[in-house]
Amino acid sequence: MATNRGVAYLEPSRVEVRKIDFPTFRNPAGKEIDHGVILKVVSTNICGSDQHMVRGRTTAPAGMVLGHEITGMVIEKGRDVEYLEVGDLVSVPFNVACGRCRTCREGDTGVCLHVNSDRAGGAYGYVDMGGWIGGQAEYVMVPYADFNLLKFPDKAQAMEKIRDLTCLSDILPTGFHGAITAKVGVGSTVYVAGAGPVGLAAAAAARILGAAVVLIGDMNQERLAHAKKVGFEPIDLSRHDRLGELVADVLGFPEVDSAIDCVGFEAKGYSGDGHVVEAPAVVLNSLMEVTRPAGAIGIPGLYVTEDPGAKEKAAKLGNLSLRLGLGWAKSHSLHTGQTPVIKYNRQLMQAILWDRLPIADIVNVKVITLDQAPEGYKSFDAGIANKFVIDPHGEIAKVA
Ligand code: NAD
Ligand code: ZN
Ligand code: ZN
Repeated sequence: MATNRGVAYLEPSRVEVRKIDFPTFRNPAGKEIDHGVILKVVSTNICGSDQHMVRGRTTAPAGMVLGHEITGMVIEKGRDVEYLEVGDLVSVPFNVACGRCRTCREGDTGVCLHVNSDRAGGAYGYVDMGGWIGGQAEYVMVPYADFNLLKFPDKAQAMEKIRDLTCLSDILPTGFHGAITAKVGVGSTVYVAGAGPVGLAAAAAARILGAAVVLIGDMNQERLAHAKKVGFEPIDLSRHDRLGELVADVLGFPEVDSAIDCVGFEAKGYSGDGHVVEAPAVVLNSLMEVTRPAGAIGIPGLYVTEDPGAKEKAAKLGNLSLRLGLGWAKSHSLHTGQTPVIKYNRQLMQAILWDRLPIADIVNVKVITLDQAPEGYKSFDAGIANKFVIDPHGEIAKVA
């Protein structure tokens, strides 16, 4: 019997690498399936979305195996898998999608209707997303494999660019979706809230879509310095909270065409006495302020329906003090939700393979071993300017 190890969530601020079951061709309900593959995981990333769970800000159960950003090699395939072969190197969209329901057929794979018995949308290793086992592990099972997986055309070339290609499972398509839904195009002025990996990916997406200028705001100095180094205009929110003025300092005008929320519900803001406090609606409200009339706001930043760690009672159920009247008065378009990765990953793979999008350098990828994952979680939580990529079999180390 083959063995497996993975990163499990234990309790707030604690994850552990432990022995876990080797994957089987069964769905979370225990039903045997023929449309899956088992992957040897080549790379699997730690995400800001994982941090919401690890900080105890969701209802994630203890013992859950984490990991939704997966790239791997097919080592076994189910009877119904027709178009993938053992040995193929593939990117796994973090969405688990059936490819058969109405929303999947319309391309909205972030809200598949068949892969989660509680609500629309599935993901690996994520609370409320259907119970699919996570891939921060040595091996993982991917269902509906013919539909979900993106095969890299040339394995040797893909391994050379694996630090970039690993970003295709989530953050690069997510940043791109944020920019597309914020209607970024040639000559756009863009403000990105949050200089974490998703914010940097959104900024990179805005640039490749032709934005004239990309501003990126945070209060984390190390992340702002990195954003500047890779060519974006840093907006230092530790100076004060009047975002329009900070935008005007760069553009000469307090508004942008497009804005992208890459922060989500754990956003920080200022209290009346100037202290930094958690302020779950601050990003959305400030984006409505700085987005021009008829502009658009993309919202990949995550918002929850239950937040056990919320400071305010209303926020415990995901209710925010939104000034929606402002956005309404300016005829804003707002777009939320999980990214339908499949809509974008093939084009973005081509952009990487043809050297148009150096995403690993932009998000500052740092490769670690599986055993270093708990440390990686801690440094990422502390706001280090890196995107952690776990290399469970040492395959990336070999090509480096
Ligand atoms: P991260 O936690 O590393 O980055 C968030 C950054 O926001 C931090 O640097 C923090 O200092 C900064 N920040 C806090 N308050 C701010 C404010 N008021 N203005 C500007 N910046 C502020 O996380 P990440 O990995 O970059 O992910 C960002 C968000 O995207 C998370 O909420 C994550 O769950 C979400 N996400 C969504 C999808 C999707 O499909 N929609 C996919 C991936 C990630
Ligand atoms: Zn992610
Ligand atoms: Zn579906």
